[in-house]
Amino acid sequence: MARDYDLFVIGAGSGGVRAARRAAEAGARVAIAESDRVGGTCVIRGCVPKKLLVYASHFREDFEDSAGYGWSVGPATFDWPTLIANKDKEIARLESVYRANLAKAGVELLETRAALDGPHSVKLESVGSTVTADRILIATGSRPNPHRALKGHELCITSNEAFHLDRLPQKIIIEGGGYIAVEFAGIFHGLGVDTTIVYRGREVLSRFDMDLRRLFHAECQNKGIRIICHEVLTKVERQADGRLRGELMGGGVEANADEIMLAVGRVPNVEGLGLESVGISLDKRGGIPVDDYSQTSVDHIWAIGDVTNRMQLTPVAIHEAMCFIDTVFHDRPTKPDYDCVATAVFAQPEIGTVGLTEDVARERCKNLDIYKTAFRPLKGTLTGRSDRMLLKLVVDADTDRVLGAHVIGPGAGEMGQLLAIPVKMGATKADFDATMAVHPTAAEEFVTFSAPTERVRGGKTLAA
Ligand SMILES: Cc1cc2nc3c(=O)[nH]c(=O)nc-3n(C[C@H](O)[C@H](O)[C@H](O)COP(=O)(O)OP(=O)(O)OC[C@H]3O[C@@H](n4cnc5c(N)ncnc54)[C@H](O)[C@@H]3O)c2cc1C
Repeated sequence: MARDYDLFVIGAGSGGVRAARRAAEAGARVAIAESDRVGGTCVIRGCVPKKLLVYASHFREDFEDSAGYGWSVGPATFDWPTLIANKDKEIARLESVYRANLAKAGVELLETRAALDGPHSVKLESVGSTVTADRILIATGSRPNPHRALKGHELCITSNEAFHLDRLPQKIIIEGGGYIAVEFAGIFHGLGVDTTIVYRGREVLSRFDMDLRRLFHAECQNKGIRIICHEVLTKVERQADGRLRGELMGGGVEANADEIMLAVGRVPNVEGLGLESVGISLDKRGGIPVDDYSQTSVDHIWAIGDVTNRMQLTPVAIHEAMCFIDTVFHDRPTKPDYDCVATAVFAQPEIGTVGLTEDVARERCKNLDIYKTAFRPLKGTLTGRSDRMLLKLVVDADTDRVLGAHVIGPGAGEMGQLLAIPVKMGATKADFDATMAVHPTAAEEFVTFSAPTERVRGGKTLAA
Protein backbone atom coordinates (compact mmCIF):
# COMPACT_ATOMS: atom_id res chain seq x y z
CA MET A 1 0.00 0.00 0.00
CA ALA A 2 1.36 3.41 -0.95
CA ARG A 3 2.33 5.51 2.05
CA ASP A 4 1.21 9.13 2.49
CA TYR A 5 4.68 10.61 1.89
CA ASP A 6 8.06 9.67 0.45
CA LEU A 7 9.73 11.67 3.22
CA PHE A 8 8.45 12.96 6.55
CA VAL A 9 10.69 15.48 8.30
CA ILE A 10 10.25 16.19 12.02
CA GLY A 11 11.48 19.70 12.85
CA ALA A 12 11.53 22.77 10.60
CA GLY A 13 14.88 24.22 11.63
CA SER A 14 18.11 24.68 9.67
CA GLY A 15 18.61 21.01 8.81
CA GLY A 16 14.99 19.93 8.43
CA VAL A 17 13.94 22.77 6.15
CA ARG A 18 16.92 22.28 3.84
CA ALA A 19 16.34 18.53 3.57
CA ALA A 20 12.57 18.92 3.02
CA ARG A 21 13.01 21.51 0.29
CA ARG A 22 15.70 19.60 -1.56
CA ALA A 23 13.79 16.31 -1.38
CA ALA A 24 10.64 17.99 -2.75
CA GLU A 25 12.69 19.63 -5.50
CA ALA A 26 13.93 16.15 -6.40
CA GLY A 27 10.31 15.10 -6.93
CA ALA A 28 9.53 13.49 -3.57
CA ARG A 29 6.22 13.91 -1.72
CA VAL A 30 7.38 15.63 1.45
CA ALA A 31 5.78 16.82 4.68
CA ILE A 32 7.50 18.65 7.53
CA ALA A 33 6.16 18.98 11.08
CA GLU A 34 7.03 21.92 13.31
CA SER A 35 5.82 22.33 16.89
CA ASP A 36 7.03 25.91 17.31
CA ARG A 37 8.05 28.54 14.78
CA VAL A 38 9.40 27.73 11.32
CA GLY A 39 13.12 28.40 11.03
CA GLY A 40 14.23 26.67 14.23
CA THR A 41 16.89 27.76 16.65
CA CYS A 42 19.13 29.63 14.23
CA VAL A 43 16.46 31.94 12.87
CA ILE A 44 14.11 32.29 15.82
CA ARG A 45 16.29 32.08 18.96
CA GLY A 46 19.91 31.60 17.89
CA CYS A 47 22.41 32.89 15.33
CA VAL A 48 20.33 35.58 13.64
CA PRO A 49 18.67 37.38 16.57
CA LYS A 50 21.95 37.03 18.49
CA LYS A 51 23.93 38.75 15.75
CA LEU A 52 21.38 41.59 15.68
CA LEU A 53 21.87 42.08 19.42
CA VAL A 54 25.64 41.92 18.93
CA TYR A 55 25.41 44.77 16.41
CA ALA A 56 23.33 46.77 18.90
CA SER A 57 25.91 46.24 21.62
CA HIS A 58 28.78 47.66 19.54
CA PHE A 59 27.37 51.18 19.26
CA ARG A 60 28.41 52.32 22.72
CA GLU A 61 32.12 51.88 21.92
CA ASP A 62 31.56 53.28 18.43
CA PHE A 63 30.03 56.47 19.86
CA GLU A 64 32.92 56.77 22.33
CA ASP A 65 35.54 56.10 19.65
CA SER A 66 34.10 58.64 17.24
CA ALA A 67 35.43 61.48 19.43
CA GLY A 68 39.03 60.66 18.48
CA TYR A 69 38.03 61.13 14.84
CA GLY A 70 36.58 64.56 15.47
CA TRP A 71 32.94 63.69 15.99
CA SER A 72 30.93 64.92 18.87
CA VAL A 73 27.88 62.89 19.53
CA GLY A 74 25.28 64.14 22.00
CA PRO A 75 24.36 62.04 25.00
CA ALA A 76 23.47 58.62 23.58
CA THR A 77 20.54 56.76 25.06
CA PHE A 78 19.49 53.19 24.45
CA ASP A 79 16.01 51.71 24.43
CA TRP A 80 15.85 47.93 24.89
CA PRO A 81 12.13 47.57 23.93
CA THR A 82 12.83 49.27 20.59
CA LEU A 83 15.70 46.89 19.86
CA ILE A 84 13.63 43.83 20.79
CA ALA A 85 10.62 45.00 18.75
CA ASN A 86 12.76 45.66 15.67
CA LYS A 87 14.55 42.35 16.10
CA ASP A 88 11.21 40.54 16.40
CA LYS A 89 9.94 42.22 13.23
CA GLU A 90 12.98 41.00 11.29
CA ILE A 91 12.67 37.48 12.70
CA ALA A 92 8.97 37.41 11.69
CA ARG A 93 9.98 38.50 8.18
CA LEU A 94 12.59 35.73 7.99
CA GLU A 95 10.12 33.16 9.26
CA SER A 96 7.71 34.11 6.49
CA VAL A 97 10.52 33.68 3.93
CA TYR A 98 11.15 30.17 5.29
CA ARG A 99 7.44 29.35 5.05
CA ALA A 100 7.25 30.71 1.49
CA ASN A 101 10.30 28.68 0.44
CA LEU A 102 8.78 25.48 1.79
CA ALA A 103 5.52 26.18 -0.04
CA LYS A 104 7.35 27.06 -3.26
CA ALA A 105 9.22 23.75 -3.14
CA GLY A 106 5.91 21.90 -2.64
CA VAL A 107 6.58 20.79 0.94
CA GLU A 108 3.48 20.33 3.10
CA LEU A 109 3.94 22.15 6.41
CA LEU A 110 2.13 20.60 9.37
CA GLU A 111 2.14 22.88 12.38
CA THR A 112 2.14 20.28 15.10
CA ARG A 113 4.37 18.33 17.37
CA ALA A 114 5.16 14.98 15.77
CA ALA A 115 6.34 11.66 17.18
CA LEU A 116 7.28 8.30 15.75
CA ASP A 117 4.45 5.83 16.10
CA GLY A 118 5.94 2.60 14.84
CA PRO A 119 7.78 1.78 11.65
CA HIS A 120 6.90 4.29 8.91
CA SER A 121 4.24 5.99 11.07
CA VAL A 122 4.26 9.48 12.52
CA LYS A 123 1.70 10.74 14.99
CA LEU A 124 0.63 14.36 14.56
CA GLU A 125 -0.10 15.37 18.13
CA SER A 126 -2.26 18.46 17.72
CA VAL A 127 -4.39 16.78 15.04
CA GLY A 128 -4.49 13.39 16.75
CA SER A 129 -3.98 11.53 13.47
CA THR A 130 -1.21 9.33 12.13
CA VAL A 131 0.45 9.56 8.72
CA THR A 132 2.82 7.17 6.99
CA ALA A 133 6.06 7.77 5.12
CA ASP A 134 8.64 5.65 3.32
CA ARG A 135 11.44 7.56 5.05
CA ILE A 136 11.57 9.68 8.17
CA LEU A 137 14.15 12.34 8.97
CA ILE A 138 14.50 13.51 12.58
CA ALA A 139 15.78 17.09 12.75
CA THR A 140 14.41 18.24 16.09
CA GLY A 141 17.46 20.21 17.22
CA SER A 142 18.40 20.99 20.80
CA ARG A 143 17.45 23.32 23.64
CA PRO A 144 19.32 24.97 26.52
CA ASN A 145 20.30 22.65 29.34
CA PRO A 146 17.98 23.74 32.19
CA HIS A 147 20.63 22.68 34.76
CA ARG A 148 18.09 21.08 37.09
CA ALA A 149 20.85 20.12 39.55
CA LEU A 150 21.18 23.80 40.47
CA LYS A 151 18.96 24.83 43.37
CA GLY A 152 16.83 27.69 42.12
CA HIS A 153 17.48 26.98 38.44
CA GLU A 154 13.84 27.85 37.72
CA LEU A 155 14.59 31.47 38.67
CA CYS A 156 17.25 31.69 35.97
CA ILE A 157 16.94 32.49 32.29
CA THR A 158 18.58 30.81 29.29
CA SER A 159 19.38 32.22 25.86
CA ASN A 160 15.75 31.55 24.89
CA GLU A 161 14.44 34.07 27.41
CA ALA A 162 17.33 36.51 26.98
CA PHE A 163 15.87 37.44 23.58
CA HIS A 164 12.57 38.47 25.14
CA LEU A 165 13.32 40.18 28.44
CA ASP A 166 10.81 42.93 29.22
CA ARG A 167 13.60 45.19 30.34
CA LEU A 168 17.35 45.33 30.24
CA PRO A 169 18.84 44.12 33.54
CA GLN A 170 21.24 46.35 35.43
CA LYS A 171 23.30 43.40 36.50
CA ILE A 172 23.56 39.91 35.06
CA ILE A 173 25.48 36.78 36.02
CA ILE A 174 26.06 34.30 33.22
CA GLU A 175 27.08 30.77 34.11
CA GLY A 176 29.01 28.99 31.35
CA GLY A 177 32.15 29.43 29.31
CA GLY A 178 31.09 28.43 25.81
CA TYR A 179 30.44 30.70 22.89
CA ILE A 180 26.83 31.41 23.84
CA ALA A 181 27.87 32.52 27.34
CA VAL A 182 30.61 34.86 26.15
CA GLU A 183 28.56 36.25 23.28
CA PHE A 184 25.72 37.21 25.62
CA ALA A 185 28.25 38.64 28.06
CA GLY A 186 29.47 40.89 25.23
CA ILE A 187 25.92 41.84 24.30
CA PHE A 188 24.83 42.74 27.83
CA HIS A 189 28.06 44.49 28.72
CA GLY A 190 27.97 46.50 25.50
CA LEU A 191 24.46 47.62 26.33
CA GLY A 192 25.65 48.89 29.69
CA VAL A 193 24.82 45.93 31.95
CA ASP A 194 27.15 45.03 34.82
CA THR A 195 28.18 41.56 33.62
CA THR A 196 29.88 38.63 35.36
CA ILE A 197 30.72 35.24 33.86
CA VAL A 198 31.06 32.25 36.20
CA TYR A 199 32.84 29.32 34.60
CA ARG A 200 33.84 25.98 36.11
CA GLY A 201 36.94 25.44 33.92
CA ARG A 202 40.35 27.06 34.00
CA GLU A 203 39.65 29.35 31.04
CA VAL A 204 36.57 30.22 28.98
CA LEU A 205 36.14 28.99 25.40
CA SER A 206 37.63 25.54 25.79
CA ARG A 207 38.58 23.93 22.47
CA PHE A 208 39.77 27.29 21.10
CA ASP A 209 43.46 28.11 20.76
CA MET A 210 44.97 28.97 24.15
CA ASP A 211 46.51 32.24 22.93
CA LEU A 212 43.06 33.39 21.84
CA ARG A 213 41.50 32.30 25.09
CA ARG A 214 44.06 34.18 27.17
CA LEU A 215 43.80 37.38 25.15
CA PHE A 216 40.01 37.08 25.13
CA HIS A 217 39.94 36.87 28.92
CA ALA A 218 42.30 39.82 29.31
CA GLU A 219 40.34 41.99 26.85
CA CYS A 220 37.04 41.17 28.54
CA GLN A 221 38.49 42.16 31.92
CA ASN A 222 39.83 45.41 30.38
CA LYS A 223 36.39 46.24 29.11
CA GLY A 224 34.87 45.55 32.50
CA ILE A 225 33.37 42.07 32.10
CA ARG A 226 34.23 40.06 35.18
CA ILE A 227 35.20 36.43 34.55
CA ILE A 228 35.37 34.07 37.52
CA CYS A 229 36.96 30.73 36.54
CA HIS A 230 37.09 27.50 38.56
CA GLU A 231 33.68 28.33 40.04
CA VAL A 232 30.09 27.19 39.73
CA LEU A 233 26.80 28.43 41.09
CA THR A 234 25.43 26.12 43.76
CA LYS A 235 22.25 27.97 44.67
CA VAL A 236 20.11 30.78 43.32
CA GLU A 237 17.45 32.47 45.39
CA ARG A 238 15.18 35.47 45.17
CA GLN A 239 15.85 38.17 47.75
CA ALA A 240 13.24 40.30 49.51
CA ASP A 241 13.92 43.17 47.07
CA GLY A 242 13.08 40.89 44.13
CA ARG A 243 16.64 40.62 42.90
CA LEU A 244 18.58 37.37 42.65
CA ARG A 245 21.42 36.10 44.76
CA GLY A 246 23.74 33.37 43.53
CA GLU A 247 25.94 31.32 45.82
CA LEU A 248 29.26 30.05 44.52
CA MET A 249 30.82 26.69 45.32
CA GLY A 250 33.89 28.35 46.83
CA GLY A 251 31.67 29.96 49.45
CA GLY A 252 31.49 33.36 47.79
CA VAL A 253 28.26 35.10 46.86
CA GLU A 254 27.31 36.91 43.71
CA ALA A 255 24.54 39.11 45.01
CA ASN A 256 21.92 41.40 43.55
CA ALA A 257 21.72 40.29 39.99
CA ASP A 258 18.56 41.18 38.10
CA GLU A 259 19.02 38.10 35.96
CA ILE A 260 21.09 34.95 36.14
CA MET A 261 21.53 33.29 32.77
CA LEU A 262 22.47 29.63 32.41
CA ALA A 263 24.51 28.84 29.31
CA VAL A 264 25.78 25.43 30.32
CA GLY A 265 25.32 23.49 27.12
CA ARG A 266 22.41 22.28 25.05
CA VAL A 267 20.47 19.03 25.17
CA PRO A 268 19.04 17.20 22.15
CA ASN A 269 15.25 17.38 21.68
CA VAL A 270 14.31 13.73 21.99
CA GLU A 271 11.58 13.73 24.65
CA GLY A 272 8.26 12.33 23.49
CA LEU A 273 9.66 11.54 20.05
CA GLY A 274 8.52 7.92 20.27
CA LEU A 275 12.03 6.60 19.65
CA GLU A 276 11.25 3.56 21.78
CA SER A 277 8.40 2.62 19.41
CA VAL A 278 10.99 1.87 16.72
CA GLY A 279 13.81 0.67 18.96
CA ILE A 280 16.17 3.65 18.71
CA SER A 281 18.17 4.16 21.91
CA LEU A 282 20.15 7.26 22.83
CA ASP A 283 23.90 7.77 23.08
CA LYS A 284 25.66 8.67 26.35
CA ARG A 285 25.07 12.37 25.81
CA GLY A 286 21.36 11.94 25.10
CA GLY A 287 21.60 12.35 21.33
CA ILE A 288 20.39 10.06 18.55
CA PRO A 289 23.27 7.87 17.37
CA VAL A 290 23.74 7.74 13.60
CA ASP A 291 26.23 6.17 11.21
CA ASP A 292 28.56 8.06 8.87
CA TYR A 293 25.60 8.77 6.55
CA SER A 294 23.28 10.07 9.31
CA GLN A 295 21.24 6.87 9.32
CA THR A 296 19.89 5.68 12.69
CA SER A 297 19.83 2.06 13.78
CA VAL A 298 16.54 1.78 11.86
CA ASP A 299 16.91 1.43 8.08
CA HIS A 300 14.46 4.06 6.90
CA ILE A 301 14.99 6.60 9.69
CA TRP A 302 17.73 9.24 9.54
CA ALA A 303 18.69 12.03 11.95
CA ILE A 304 20.63 15.24 11.33
CA GLY A 305 21.63 18.43 13.13
CA ASP A 306 21.85 19.18 16.84
CA VAL A 307 19.72 16.19 17.84
CA THR A 308 22.62 13.92 16.82
CA ASN A 309 25.10 15.74 19.07
CA ARG A 310 27.82 15.92 16.45
CA MET A 311 28.74 19.58 15.85
CA GLN A 312 26.07 22.03 16.95
CA LEU A 313 26.32 24.66 14.22
CA THR A 314 23.86 25.79 11.56
CA PRO A 315 26.09 25.23 8.50
CA VAL A 316 26.84 21.73 9.81
CA ALA A 317 23.11 20.88 10.14
CA ILE A 318 22.60 22.15 6.58
CA HIS A 319 25.59 20.20 5.28
CA GLU A 320 24.29 17.02 6.93
CA ALA A 321 20.92 17.67 5.25
CA MET A 322 22.59 18.01 1.84
CA CYS A 323 24.58 14.80 2.37
CA PHE A 324 21.35 13.02 3.38
CA ILE A 325 19.66 14.20 0.17
CA ASP A 326 22.60 13.10 -2.00
CA THR A 327 22.73 9.72 -0.28
CA VAL A 328 19.01 8.97 -0.25
CA PHE A 329 17.49 10.84 -3.19
CA HIS A 330 20.35 11.05 -5.71
CA ASP A 331 21.96 7.68 -5.13
CA ARG A 332 25.29 9.35 -4.26
CA PRO A 333 26.29 8.08 -0.81
CA THR A 334 27.92 11.11 0.84
CA LYS A 335 29.36 11.35 4.34
CA PRO A 336 29.32 14.74 6.06
CA ASP A 337 32.84 16.18 6.20
CA TYR A 338 33.78 17.65 9.58
CA ASP A 339 37.38 18.50 8.72
CA CYS A 340 38.33 22.19 8.97
CA VAL A 341 34.96 23.58 10.03
CA ALA A 342 35.53 27.30 10.57
CA THR A 343 33.71 28.97 13.45
CA ALA A 344 33.31 32.43 14.87
CA VAL A 345 32.54 33.77 18.31
CA PHE A 346 30.67 37.03 17.98
CA ALA A 347 31.80 38.28 21.34
CA GLN A 348 33.77 41.40 22.13
CA PRO A 349 36.48 40.87 21.04
CA GLU A 350 35.37 38.68 18.15
CA ILE A 351 37.05 35.38 17.26
CA GLY A 352 37.46 33.59 13.94
CA THR A 353 39.15 30.24 13.75
CA VAL A 354 39.73 27.26 11.48
CA GLY A 355 41.78 24.11 11.74
CA LEU A 356 43.94 22.84 14.56
CA THR A 357 44.74 24.74 17.72
CA GLU A 358 48.41 24.79 18.69
CA ASP A 359 47.76 22.30 21.50
CA VAL A 360 46.06 19.77 19.22
CA ALA A 361 48.70 20.26 16.52
CA ARG A 362 51.41 19.51 19.13
CA GLU A 363 49.68 16.21 19.90
CA ARG A 364 49.61 15.25 16.22
CA CYS A 365 52.89 16.64 14.80
CA LYS A 366 56.43 16.56 16.12
CA ASN A 367 57.64 19.59 14.17
CA LEU A 368 55.71 22.81 14.05
CA ASP A 369 56.28 26.45 13.24
CA ILE A 370 54.08 28.92 15.06
CA TYR A 371 53.60 32.41 13.69
CA LYS A 372 51.81 34.96 15.76
CA THR A 373 51.50 38.67 16.21
CA ALA A 374 49.53 40.81 18.63
CA PHE A 375 49.02 44.52 18.05
CA ARG A 376 46.67 47.44 18.49
CA PRO A 377 44.55 47.82 15.34
CA LEU A 378 45.12 51.04 13.36
CA LYS A 379 41.64 52.34 14.19
CA GLY A 380 42.53 52.34 17.88
CA THR A 381 45.42 54.76 17.41
CA LEU A 382 43.13 57.81 17.27
CA THR A 383 40.54 56.59 19.72
CA GLY A 384 42.85 55.85 22.61
CA ARG A 385 41.28 52.42 22.95
CA SER A 386 43.90 49.92 24.00
CA ASP A 387 42.19 46.76 22.61
CA ARG A 388 44.65 44.40 21.00
CA MET A 389 44.14 41.80 18.31
CA LEU A 390 46.05 38.59 17.70
CA LEU A 391 46.64 36.61 14.51
CA LYS A 392 48.21 33.18 14.53
CA LEU A 393 49.18 30.44 12.09
CA VAL A 394 50.02 26.89 13.11
CA VAL A 395 52.20 25.29 10.43
CA ASP A 396 53.43 21.71 10.03
CA ALA A 397 57.19 22.27 9.71
CA ASP A 398 57.68 19.02 7.77
CA THR A 399 55.14 19.72 5.02
CA ASP A 400 54.80 23.51 5.34
CA ARG A 401 51.03 22.98 5.44
CA VAL A 402 48.98 25.52 7.41
CA LEU A 403 47.11 23.41 9.97
CA GLY A 404 45.31 26.18 11.78
CA ALA A 405 44.57 29.89 11.46
CA HIS A 406 43.24 31.85 14.41
CA VAL A 407 42.33 35.47 14.88
CA ILE A 408 40.84 37.59 17.61
CA GLY A 409 39.82 41.20 17.07
CA PRO A 410 37.63 43.31 14.78
CA GLY A 411 36.43 41.44 11.68
CA ALA A 412 37.69 38.09 12.97
CA GLY A 413 34.51 36.21 12.03
CA GLU A 414 34.68 37.36 8.42
CA MET A 415 38.42 36.54 8.28
CA GLY A 416 37.74 33.06 9.66
CA GLN A 417 35.37 32.32 6.79
CA LEU A 418 37.93 33.31 4.14
CA LEU A 419 40.83 31.58 5.90
CA ALA A 420 38.76 28.39 5.85
CA ILE A 421 39.22 28.13 2.07
CA PRO A 422 43.04 27.91 1.90
CA VAL A 423 43.27 25.87 5.11
CA LYS A 424 40.68 23.38 3.83
CA MET A 425 42.48 23.23 0.46
CA GLY A 426 45.71 22.32 2.21
CA ALA A 427 47.55 25.58 1.50
CA THR A 428 51.15 25.84 2.65
CA LYS A 429 52.82 28.73 4.42
CA ALA A 430 54.58 29.38 1.09
CA ASP A 431 51.14 29.79 -0.54
CA PHE A 432 50.22 32.36 2.09
CA ASP A 433 53.57 34.12 1.52
CA ALA A 434 53.03 34.17 -2.25
CA THR A 435 49.79 36.09 -1.75
CA MET A 436 50.01 39.86 -2.11
CA ALA A 437 48.96 41.75 0.99
CA VAL A 438 45.94 44.04 1.05
CA HIS A 439 47.22 47.15 2.73
CA PRO A 440 46.44 48.60 5.19
CA THR A 441 44.46 45.78 6.78
CA ALA A 442 44.90 43.67 9.87
CA ALA A 443 44.51 40.48 7.85
CA GLU A 444 47.61 41.29 5.80
CA GLU A 445 49.63 39.99 8.75
CA PHE A 446 48.60 36.49 7.65
CA VAL A 447 50.61 36.85 4.43
CA THR A 448 53.55 38.83 5.78
CA PHE A 449 54.85 36.70 8.64
CA SER A 450 58.60 36.40 7.98
CA ALA A 451 59.95 34.11 10.71
CA PRO A 452 58.24 31.81 13.18
CA THR A 453 57.73 33.18 16.66
CA GLU A 454 58.13 29.67 18.01
CA ARG A 455 59.61 26.43 16.64
CA VAL A 456 58.64 23.00 17.89
CA ARG A 457 61.05 20.22 16.96
CA GLY A 458 60.65 16.62 18.07
CA GLY A 459 57.86 17.82 20.35
CA LYS A 460 60.14 20.32 22.14
CA THR A 461 59.78 24.08 21.94
CA LEU A 462 62.95 25.81 20.70
CA ALA A 463 63.65 29.49 20.98
CA ALA A 464 62.65 31.25 17.76
C1 LIG B 1 21.93 31.56 21.19
C2 LIG B 1 22.44 30.70 20.07
C3 LIG B 1 23.31 31.23 19.16
C4 LIG B 1 23.79 30.46 18.11
N1 LIG B 1 24.67 31.02 17.24
C5 LIG B 1 25.15 30.29 16.23
C6 LIG B 1 26.04 30.89 15.29
O1 LIG B 1 26.40 32.06 15.40
N2 LIG B 1 26.47 30.12 14.26
C7 LIG B 1 26.08 28.81 14.12
O2 LIG B 1 26.50 28.17 13.15
N3 LIG B 1 25.25 28.22 15.00
C8 LIG B 1 24.77 28.94 16.04
N4 LIG B 1 23.90 28.36 16.92
C9 LIG B 1 23.56 26.91 16.76
C10 LIG B 1 22.49 26.70 15.69
O3 LIG B 1 21.39 27.52 15.94
C11 LIG B 1 22.06 25.23 15.68
O4 LIG B 1 23.20 24.43 15.55
C12 LIG B 1 21.12 24.92 14.51
O5 LIG B 1 19.97 25.71 14.58
C13 LIG B 1 20.73 23.44 14.53
O6 LIG B 1 19.81 23.17 13.51
P1 LIG B 1 18.84 21.90 13.61
O7 LIG B 1 18.16 21.81 12.29
O8 LIG B 1 19.58 20.74 14.10
O9 LIG B 1 17.80 22.25 14.76
P2 LIG B 1 16.90 23.53 15.02
O10 LIG B 1 17.27 24.67 14.15
O11 LIG B 1 16.89 23.75 16.47
O12 LIG B 1 15.44 23.05 14.56
C14 LIG B 1 14.75 22.03 15.22
C15 LIG B 1 13.26 22.32 15.09
O13 LIG B 1 12.53 21.15 15.46
C16 LIG B 1 11.37 21.54 16.17
N5 LIG B 1 10.91 20.39 16.94
C17 LIG B 1 11.53 19.80 18.00
N6 LIG B 1 10.84 18.70 18.38
C18 LIG B 1 9.78 18.59 17.54
C19 LIG B 1 8.72 17.65 17.40
N7 LIG B 1 8.61 16.58 18.20
N8 LIG B 1 7.78 17.85 16.43
C20 LIG B 1 7.89 18.92 15.59
N9 LIG B 1 8.87 19.83 15.67
C21 LIG B 1 9.81 19.67 16.62
C22 LIG B 1 11.87 22.71 17.01
O14 LIG B 1 10.78 23.52 17.43
C23 LIG B 1 12.79 23.43 16.02
O15 LIG B 1 12.11 24.40 15.29
C24 LIG B 1 23.38 29.11 17.97
C25 LIG B 1 22.48 28.56 18.89
C26 LIG B 1 22.02 29.34 19.93
C27 LIG B 1 21.06 28.75 20.92
